[in-house]
Amino acid sequence: MGLIRAVFDAAFRQGGGQRLKPVGPRWPLLLFHVDTGGCGGCGMELEALSAGPYDLEGAGFGFVQTPRSADVLLVTGPLTRTMAPVLEAAWQAMPKPKGLISVGGCAMDGGYFSENYAVLGGLDRKASIDLVIPGCPPSPQQVLDGLCSLFGQPPRPVSGAQAEGSSSTSS
Ligand code: SF4
Repeated sequence: MGLIRAVFDAAFRQGGGQRLKPVGPRWPLLLFHVDTGGCGGCGMELEALSAGPYDLEGAGFGFVQTPRSADVLLVTGPLTRTMAPVLEAAWQAMPKPKGLISVGGCAMDGGYFSENYAVLGGLDRKASIDLVIPGCPPSPQQVLDGLCSLFGQPPRPVSGAQAEGSSSTSS
C-alpha cells in the first residue's frame, strides 16, 4: 500500500487563505465514508448523522456514494490489510484538494485492535490526518461538531428530542 498523504487544502478552511471552493449549505463539503474494519459502531453513528435530527446539510456537509465526487474521506475502524488497498483506491480517486478525517479511536490509533497479521493499526502513523474525531464511538453530534470545527463554526444544535451528545449506539 502506498503511503497516504492527506493535505487538507487551506483553501477549504475559513480564513485560511483563498478558498478554491465555497462551502456552506449551497456548496456542501462532500464526504465519502470508508469503514476499514472495527466493530461497525462508528459507521452506525455516521448513518445516524446523515439520517437523524442532525442538520448536516444545513451545516454545509453531505455524504456522497463515490470518492470521485468527494472532498473529504471519513475513515472509521482500524486499518486492516484487506481494506488497505480499498482505502488507497478511494483516496486516489478523489479530486484535489482533498482531506482525511479519522472518526473514532480505532481509525486514529487502532483502538482496541492491536497490530497483527490482519490489522495494520490506525492511520496516525501512516497518514497525515487533517482532523481527528475521537470517541468509541463518537456520537453523531460529536462528529458534526468536529466537522464544523474545520470552518470555525460553533456546534450545531440538534433538532427534535434527541439530546446533544447522545449516541445511537452507546448508552
Ligand atoms: S472506535 Fe469503538 S465504536 Fe468505533 S470501530 Fe472502534 S471499537 Fe467500534
